[in-house]
Amino acid sequence: MDVTVTSIAPAAPISRGDALHLIGCSDEDLPELLAAARAAKERFKPGAITYSRKVFLPLTNLCRDYCGYCTFRRDPGDPGAHTMTPDEVLSVARAGEKLGCTEALFSLGDKPELLFPEMRETLRHLGYKSTLHYLEAMCELVLRGTSLLPHPNPGLLSAEWIARLAAVSPSMGLMLETTNAALLAPGAAHDNAPDKVPAKRLRTIEDAGKQNVPFTTGLLIGIGESLEDRVDTLLAIRDMNDRYGHIQEVIVQNFRVKPAIPMANWPEPTRGEMLRAVAVARLLLPNVNIQAPPNLSAPYYDDLMDAGINDWGGVSPLTPDFINPEKPWPHLEQLRLRTEAKGFTLQQRLPVYPEFIPAVTAKPGLLSDKLQAAADDRGLARMKRAA
Ligand code: SF4
Repeated sequence: MDVTVTSIAPAAPISRGDALHLIGCSDEDLPELLAAARAAKERFKPGAITYSRKVFLPLTNLCRDYCGYCTFRRDPGDPGAHTMTPDEVLSVARAGEKLGCTEALFSLGDKPELLFPEMRETLRHLGYKSTLHYLEAMCELVLRGTSLLPHPNPGLLSAEWIARLAAVSPSMGLMLETTNAALLAPGAAHDNAPDKVPAKRLRTIEDAGKQNVPFTTGLLIGIGESLEDRVDTLLAIRDMNDRYGHIQEVIVQNFRVKPAIPMANWPEPTRGEMLRAVAVARLLLPNVNIQAPPNLSAPYYDDLMDAGINDWGGVSPLTPDFINPEKPWPHLEQLRLRTEAKGFTLQQRLPVYPEFIPAVTAKPGLLSDKLQAAADDRGLARMKRAA
């Protein structure tokens, strides 16, 4: 291969040209790419892979978008359509607290009240003007009523809403997914998904950066994008991080086929494609946390450690992955054993990564107090029991 392990300078991010070359490398050259990525990971965070022990709170699965790969969303009246009540939120969070969870992940559809009068009525009944007002209140409820730290994923956000949610959660997230606007075309993955316009998603990520809010983002692999798109999406994230330094984590998530979705007959990305994407993400972003979900690569998720991830993301001992319910999370003990078999220790982190904690604790108040109580002296989860 033209770009060799030895030609990649330690800790220096690779160029777009090198990334394009590497993401399309041959099977013969793949081991060399993986070795470079794993070495880069070890320079960044040696010896450990982290995960966040979480409960998954699908605050509402109503959504105004219709992404072609989504099995989570519902229309009002569909079987399984549901908006959680405050009692349900608190009860799941408290059950997770008993199992040592430290993250309350709020995942929800984007602005369903704009499309559905039924959601407007639900919100009126609950006493809130919008889904985001309700989310803010539920983050505060969890923050006050448990030791869990909220991490909301509510879709596009204005600068004002980023500030409001940052007062009740130490970090938040929005997947960029892709920079390719052609996926909004009829029949493509983001057909009829107005919140998936890449420029709008970049604006939210940038607004979070301007406010120094620790932010999780990432890309989807296998939704109709090209190899070039994957590299350009990673570069757009890198550009944001170069300007604001707030990208705490980049998720590389592979599309998985599910029955009854518009993309039910699409091919899934191969294991090799996924490994190349993760490895190139590591080399483009050598000093950023790179995560890939283990449940979406089971049973071969161990390989992701060879490609340079340093985090497994949120893993729940309690709640299913409502986004990919047919792919159960690995049992935490099995995850630990397989992580150790690759030569790493498994460490439980908080929803906000250690290096970003000072940005949150700098502002005195309830959130800072709760975060300091949850963190140990390394900024990882203060352990009340063995990982
Ligand atoms: S992926 Fe998110 S935005 Fe798209 S339809 Fe599903 S819930 Fe809505």
